[in-house]
Amino acid sequence: MPDSAQFSSPSLDPEEFRRLAHRVVDWIADYRRDLAKRPVTNDAHPGELLAQLPADPPRHPEGFEAVLRDLDERLLPALPHWQHPSFFAYFPSNGDLAAVLGDFLSTGIGALGLTWQSAPALTELEDRAVDWLRRMCGLSDDWQGVIQDTASTSTLIALVAARERTTAHGAITAGMQHGEAPLVVYTSAEAHSSVLKAAMIAGFGRDHVRQVRVDAHRAMDAEALRAETAADLAAGRRPCAVVATAGTTTTTAFDPLTAIADAVAEHDIWLHVDTAMAGSALLLPEMRTLFTGIERADSLVMNPHKWLGVSFDCSVLYVRDDQHLVRVMRTDPSYLRTDFDDRVKTYRDWGIALGRRFRALKLWSLIRTHGTERLQARLRRDLANARWLRQQIESTPPWRVLVPSPLQTLCVRHEPPDLTGDELDRHTLAWLDRVHATGRAWLTPAQLDGRWMVRVSIGALTTEREHVAALWQLLRAAVR
Ligand SMILES: *Cc1c(COP(=O)(O)O)cnc(C)c1O
Repeated sequence: MPDSAQFSSPSLDPEEFRRLAHRVVDWIADYRRDLAKRPVTNDAHPGELLAQLPADPPRHPEGFEAVLRDLDERLLPALPHWQHPSFFAYFPSNGDLAAVLGDFLSTGIGALGLTWQSAPALTELEDRAVDWLRRMCGLSDDWQGVIQDTASTSTLIALVAARERTTAHGAITAGMQHGEAPLVVYTSAEAHSSVLKAAMIAGFGRDHVRQVRVDAHRAMDAEALRAETAADLAAGRRPCAVVATAGTTTTTAFDPLTAIADAVAEHDIWLHVDTAMAGSALLLPEMRTLFTGIERADSLVMNPHKWLGVSFDCSVLYVRDDQHLVRVMRTDPSYLRTDFDDRVKTYRDWGIALGRRFRALKLWSLIRTHGTERLQARLRRDLANARWLRQQIESTPPWRVLVPSPLQTLCVRHEPPDLTGDELDRHTLAWLDRVHATGRAWLTPAQLDGRWMVRVSIGALTTEREHVAALWQLLRAAVR
């Protein structure tokens, strides 16, 4: 008799789910509550976990208990802790528990936005939530937003939209065979790697991505941009898009958006602003001068899944001309047509994927639970903590903060006068190793002008002054 004949329950029944879900919630609550007691880093070795996981899937039910056991015994030891108060690595990827609840509900409901009709609440809540975020950021009402998974995807979509504006929808019609002069994308050497990747996928080709020179503050040099576009035009190429960064990944430098918009104004070049991390700072009116000129962009991306606190993934792409985006992205199969199509937003035509998760629920949940002022207060706390640490470091030579840091990330080096070049690099990486070996902080090394330094990115949800002070003590101990 085949096994399927003994099949009893197609999945957990709701009562069994209720019992287990309470345990899962308890697990998460305990994890978050006790997180600070764990080392933030871990010492997993490549392949170690994999070797412990059975090669063959079970033939018979093992129950969810087995999953929880795996989690405690095998998976957790192979996880550093992103929500830990001593997380100073990369950029914060905050999953506020209010957003976690929204995410949980979204998954539990299991609705898909294929059309407005397939889940009207999904579309309309997203419409409202991204507009709330726009208002919180002080952006004009010329912007229309949509939630994507990541900034990488948002930037890809922006470059496809740019490509189609320059080619008057030629590339989307004739594909790679439209046979005209090559289109060129401009960004800076400090831009995120996702920009190059997006340009590669969108068909521009690596050869047609210009890394415009940066100035001493590592911001794009708008005059160099002007010169590069002129040179490309003179050579018969077509300048198509500029991707400016407001808050670069290595040093949080801000490209000068007004000067960039001026430099490309006469050529109808699409301006996309990557403010994946720093975009959250738009919530603070006192920080908005950093973004002067952003209103002249055609598109921008910010990631509420970084500093703001919406659990990964939630990236918001804002565009000025949503009609254009939809014309580029639209496909219209009969099985997805409804009577409402001309009266509603159809977000599948604002991006790549057809199926759309109810991501708006976690953004909504974060904003409703906290309100603008509490979110602002937290961001200000992090900026104040970064200022405090900067002062400590600057008044303790040979420690140095290497570049101006308008946000919450500091680029730090300890520079004993007798060490230069490779020796200094070895010193930097050695003290960082000693810090990590304590398990009491997690930082990211990165290269600046070919030399190693250490990024200290402050802004995990639970990071208070005491954690930053403890970090500073740890750094000093590590060089002794
Ligand atoms: C983090 C970051 C990205 C990439 O974000 P994803 O959402 O992971 O794709 C892109 N640009 C900047 C400036 C970033 O800081």
